Amino acid sequence: MSLREKLAEMLQRVNPQDIVTTRFHSRDFNTSRAEYLSIRIRTLALLFAIMAPLWIPIDYLVLEGTLFWKVVALRLLFSAALFGLTRWGTHCNNLTAARMRVFLFILIPGLFFMVSHLLFREAGAEHSVLLGYAFLPLLMMALLTIVPLTLLEGLAFVAMITAYFVITKLLLGTLTTLGALSDLWLLLLLGLIALWVTMSQLHMLMRLYREATRDALTGLVNRRVLSTKLENELAQSERPLALLLFDLDLFKRINDTYGHHTGDNVLKVFAQVLNEHCTGNCVAGRYGGEEFMAILPDCAREEAVALAEKIRAACHDYTVHSSEDEPREVNFTTSVGVSMHRDGETAEELLNRVDEGLYKAKSGGRDLVVFAD
Ligand code: GH3
Ligand code: MG
Ligand code: MG
Repeated sequence: MSLREKLAEMLQRVNPQDIVTTRFHSRDFNTSRAEYLSIRIRTLALLFAIMAPLWIPIDYLVLEGTLFWKVVALRLLFSAALFGLTRWGTHCNNLTAARMRVFLFILIPGLFFMVSHLLFREAGAEHSVLLGYAFLPLLMMALLTIVPLTLLEGLAFVAMITAYFVITKLLLGTLTTLGALSDLWLLLLLGLIALWVTMSQLHMLMRLYREATRDALTGLVNRRVLSTKLENELAQSERPLALLLFDLDLFKRINDTYGHHTGDNVLKVFAQVLNEHCTGNCVAGRYGGEEFMAILPDCAREEAVALAEKIRAACHDYTVHSSEDEPREVNFTTSVGVSMHRDGETAEELLNRVDEGLYKAKSGGRDLVVFAD
């Protein structure tokens, strides 16, 4: 297996703890998953909101008098609440809001289940009438499989559905009947299957996300993430933003002299240097080939130039061993363009300017940092 294949495999491997909790999930991944959760829950809520009143003709055939009207009112309320959920907080797409949406999507049918059963008991309705209502917890459990959740999130929602089933049966005084116990068994079995499927979904989403956002050679974020991050930062924030563009010097010569494999190792070591220096809210990634970029939100000019200078100098401290029979020490340097975002400037204009800085660093002799005014 080549090094490139090994690295690609390593990147695809998802850490087991990432399936259990969101503690180590990146902010970008959280935002993507939150969007995914929100879209699915809003669509499901809309479907339920439309379908719920369509049951009214069946209620009309089996329920009598005031019970029918009470159930119709409850159904319309249920439908309205779900419709409200499709409209709620559409502008906020963070993970907390997305989790709240899943919570409400489970809570609303839970309340409907509970109140409808109490209404039926009050009216002494027959068991056969209830059949159409009894499957709701099972349906909710099955619907959990539609969203990618961590083990802890999944457990919380499975517990919630189980709780409203148990509480309703307790209120009705039927929890210890054979029917309720067999339903509970089925509900828990479905809950376990739902947990497994929802976690598999998260696993798959994470793998696809990594493949789409990470550079397989260096493990840094790729150009797509850098471009999105830059656009978002410029759109959302008024704070000063600095941009650093790195281009390894005479890299073609390294490839030609020591081989492509050694060139790859230089790229990996440079990625390590970048990672070590870009801390806090700095985002560093591979822009393409032997070009790398660092986006520094909320960073002053002096700080940005100092960081670029530190990274440039740090490259002198690293050597890579060539992969020949008699390995030789390979040194590398980088040129850096630095620029600050100006009010009203587009990402493209900023990129052009930082590119000018880099060009000047190259023509000035390489292994230099140039601030582009
Ligand atoms: P300059 O100092 O002017 O930047 O010179 P340079 O040789 O670095 O610039 P040039 O753009 O001519 O060469 C870049 C080289 O980077 C060419 C390309 O083969 C090499 N390269 C791009 N991606 C990779 C990669 O993933 N691995 C390796 N080993 N080489 C790569
Ligand atoms: Mg280049
Ligand atoms: Mg170069």
